[in-house]
Amino acid sequence: MLNRDKLFIGGQWSTPASRETIDVHNAGNGEVLGRIPAAGEKEVDAAVKAARAALEAWSATSPAARADYLQKISDGLKARSEEIAKTIAQEVGMPLKMASRIQAGLPIANFANYAKLVREFKWEDRVGNSVVVRDPVGVVAASTPWNYPLHQITLKLAPALGAGCTVVLKPSEVAPFNAFILAEVMEAAGLPAGVFNLVTGTGQPAGEALVKHPGVDMISFTGSTRAGKRISELAAQSVKRVALELGGKSASVILDDADLAAAVKGTVNGCYLNSGQTCTALTRMLVSEKQYPEAAKLAAEAAKGFTVGDPMAETTRLGPLTSQAQLERVRSYIKKGQQEGAELLAGGADAPEGVPAGGYYVKPTVFGKVKNSMTIAQEEIFGPVLSIIPYKDEEDAIRIANDTVYGLAGAVWSKDESRAQRVARRIRAGQVDVNGGAFNMNAPFGGFKQSGHGREAGVYGLEEFLEYKSLQLKG
Ligand code: NAD
Repeated sequence: MLNRDKLFIGGQWSTPASRETIDVHNAGNGEVLGRIPAAGEKEVDAAVKAARAALEAWSATSPAARADYLQKISDGLKARSEEIAKTIAQEVGMPLKMASRIQAGLPIANFANYAKLVREFKWEDRVGNSVVVRDPVGVVAASTPWNYPLHQITLKLAPALGAGCTVVLKPSEVAPFNAFILAEVMEAAGLPAGVFNLVTGTGQPAGEALVKHPGVDMISFTGSTRAGKRISELAAQSVKRVALELGGKSASVILDDADLAAAVKGTVNGCYLNSGQTCTALTRMLVSEKQYPEAAKLAAEAAKGFTVGDPMAETTRLGPLTSQAQLERVRSYIKKGQQEGAELLAGGADAPEGVPAGGYYVKPTVFGKVKNSMTIAQEEIFGPVLSIIPYKDEEDAIRIANDTVYGLAGAVWSKDESRAQRVARRIRAGQVDVNGGAFNMNAPFGGFKQSGHGREAGVYGLEEFLEYKSLQLKG
């Protein structure tokens, strides 16, 4: 059991006043993996006060000193990367090999990258008679989801600490054990007391207590659009800065001159990554009416190649969903797709065969002849469910791609790179891959529309945690 009974507040592992706990489940078999404290207002208050007390001294350290800490944290995570990958493979259900590369690998790389960026960043400049300095925004409350748990924590903590902010983290109660490992790494790195604090608990009361706390200057939130709206309302009461990374319903536009096989394969992979529990998942595949029959055949074949199973098994390509709630939600969307008249080309709502009992497994599913007005094309499913939507021409494809309340990501495929770029520029989303272009950790990441506001990653992510201040000089 991975039980934890203490919170990290003010540089100490302290026993919470509340005796309440939360069960965390193993996605692969449904068993209880361990328990964590369910913090309440009292613990949140102690954590914010510790962060507040540490702010002045931490914000006065040099960027180079802060960069050294970030590098030490990266090294500390690297030393424990196997344990991190195994923990997240159990909490989230991502196949272990992939979890080592993505779930453990990205945080190590991002902490190291921020060490470099903080060293190189231009902390002040001159405009006429003014010196413009960058100040840390203050005490940051970071609230994160479970799908890429340590990566999403890192994209907040590394730049916030690098900027000179102090932090209270409330990780997802669904996948929290990785955050405890990070807290131990921070402690071992010798980070001054109160600069980083960890409280665990549910959205209500712990999350809301943190968002409402008068000692917090900024909320950096990643999670559902539903929670993002609630957090915005609460934060408005004291005019806190809010950065929101929310959901998505991203389109992969396959233009009629694309390498169809490569584009379909890339889209299916982009849809099923982490069992579809990826905010940038390419869940709507847009193909020209002429190519629809061939694209449908290729997508169904690709889906059947995803072996569903135990995340710890070498042969698994598609792990379970993360929780029972997710399983029920995804199955109900698959049924909804059938009821609304989409054509089921692969998978379905019934349980896959040959998987470990008790786990949250679902079949890789493909729907054809989907209309963009259908529920499965409009709502974020967060499971391995692809919708293929035929379009008439390029203009129609762009219209469909943008016909969503979301705007997080997208993809465009064409043999003509300039045509692909032209279409990509017209998609209202924060990140659009062209012909399978690789993920870039220095490029800005974030949403348009109801996918949120603010940007993470690279220098853009660092600027989120800074305030500009102008000093008007006389001479
Ligand atoms: P969620 O919104 O339920 O929870 C996210 C975090 O917020 C958790 O720590 C939760 O305890 C907390 N929370 C929930 N309600 C709260 C409230 N009222 N006040 C304060 N805190 C609250 O989301 P989830 O189910 O953990 O994650 C899945 C969602 O996250 C999906 O919609 C997905 O698209 C989105 N997501 C977005 C990105 C991105 O960068 N845009 C990345 C990953 C996930």
